[in-house]
Amino acid sequence: MRKEIYVTRATLPPYEEYISEIRDIWDTHWLTNMGTKHNELEKQLCRRLDVPNISLFCNGHMALELVIQAFGLTGEVITTPYTFVSTTHAIVRNGLTPVFCDINPVDYTIDVTKIESLITEKTSAIIPVHVYGNVCDVDEIDRIAKKHNLKVIYDAAHAFGVEYMEKGIGNYGDASMFSFHATKVFNTIEGGAIAYKDESIGKKLYMLKNFGIKNEEEVIDVGANAKMNEFSATMGLCNLKHFDESIEKRKMIYEIYKSELDGILGISIPQPNANISKKNYSYYPILVNKAICGFDRDYLFEKLKENGIYARKYFYPLVTDYDCYRNRVNNNVTNANKIAENIITLPMHEYLTREDIIRICSVIKQ
Ligand SMILES: *Cc1c(COP(=O)(O)O)cnc(C)c1O
Repeated sequence: MRKEIYVTRATLPPYEEYISEIRDIWDTHWLTNMGTKHNELEKQLCRRLDVPNISLFCNGHMALELVIQAFGLTGEVITTPYTFVSTTHAIVRNGLTPVFCDINPVDYTIDVTKIESLITEKTSAIIPVHVYGNVCDVDEIDRIAKKHNLKVIYDAAHAFGVEYMEKGIGNYGDASMFSFHATKVFNTIEGGAIAYKDESIGKKLYMLKNFGIKNEEEVIDVGANAKMNEFSATMGLCNLKHFDESIEKRKMIYEIYKSELDGILGISIPQPNANISKKNYSYYPILVNKAICGFDRDYLFEKLKENGIYARKYFYPLVTDYDCYRNRVNNNVTNANKIAENIITLPMHEYLTREDIIRICSVIKQ
C-alpha cells in the first residue's frame, strides 16, 4: 500500500521517557501554576536559546498577545502580512491598528527599506516575523526602532534554536515570541514563550498570564489565563533532550531536498541572511515560477496530492486577503501577494526517510 506523506508529524520523545518524567506529578499533585517542571523548563530554555530570561505560556499566540499588552503599545504597529494569522490577531485583539509592510523577495521577511515611510506619530512598535526561521534584518530594524523610539517584538514562532552572529535569535529586539505548538521544531504539545531583556517586563508577563493577580488580595492588571501546565512542561523537558538529534535529522532531509531540486528551472527557494550562524531547518518552502516551468503552484500541489503527498500552501491566502482583514489593507504588499500565490511548503519533519524525499522530488521533476 502507498504510504501517505504529510507536511508535518509532531515530534515525540520515547514513550518511557515521558512516563517516567511525569511520575513526579503524581507524587506532588501539582498540575499547573508555575510548578517544578515549568520552572525547570524555563531554566533549561534560557540556556538552550542563549537568552537572559524566558517566560512560558500556554501557547505562542497568548504569549504574543500578552507581551504586546505588557509593553503598553498604542496606536499603530508595523508588521508583515506574510505570516500566520496569529501575528495580526495578537495586534488587533490589543485594540491596535496593524500597518502592513511588504516583504523582500529574497528571504520573505519584512522589507526594511519600506518600514520608515510607514511610520506616523501613532506608531509605537514594529512586529516582524522570522518567517521559516529566516532571520529578519535585525540590525536595520534596530537602527530604525532606536531612531524613532519604537519597541520591537519579534514573532520568532518559526525560529526556535536559530542563532544569528553566534547569538540566540531571542536576544534581538525588546522581546521575542517562540511557539511550541505540536507542529513546530520543538513542542510542548501546545505552548509558547517570551524571551525578554527587561526584568520589569518579566514581572508584568508573570502577572498577565495569571489574571493580573499580584498577590492574594491584589489584582492590578486586566490579565488572562495563559499559564503552561506541568504535562506540557514535561513534554518540553523530554523533547529538549533530543532537540539536537531532531535538527540533525532535519538538516539531512534539507540537504537531500536541496541536492534533488537544485537546478530545476522554475523552482526556487528563499535565500536566508548569510549571518545566520545556526539554522533550524523548520520548513522547506519552494517558489513555483509558472513562466519558466509551465505549470503553477496549484497544479503542483494537486499532483503531489494525487501521489499521496500532502504539502501546504503556507502562507496562502495572505493575511490581508482574509475576510476579517480585507478592509484594513492600507498599503501595497506586492511581493507578499506574489509569493503567497506561488509558494508551497514541502513535507518537513524528522520522521521522513531518504526514500520519502526522493519520491516527493521525483513527482516534482515529473
Ligand atoms: C505557530 C505560529 C504562531 C502561533 O503559535 P501557537 O503556539 O500556535 O499559538 C504565531 N505566529 C507564527 C508565525 C506561527 O507560525
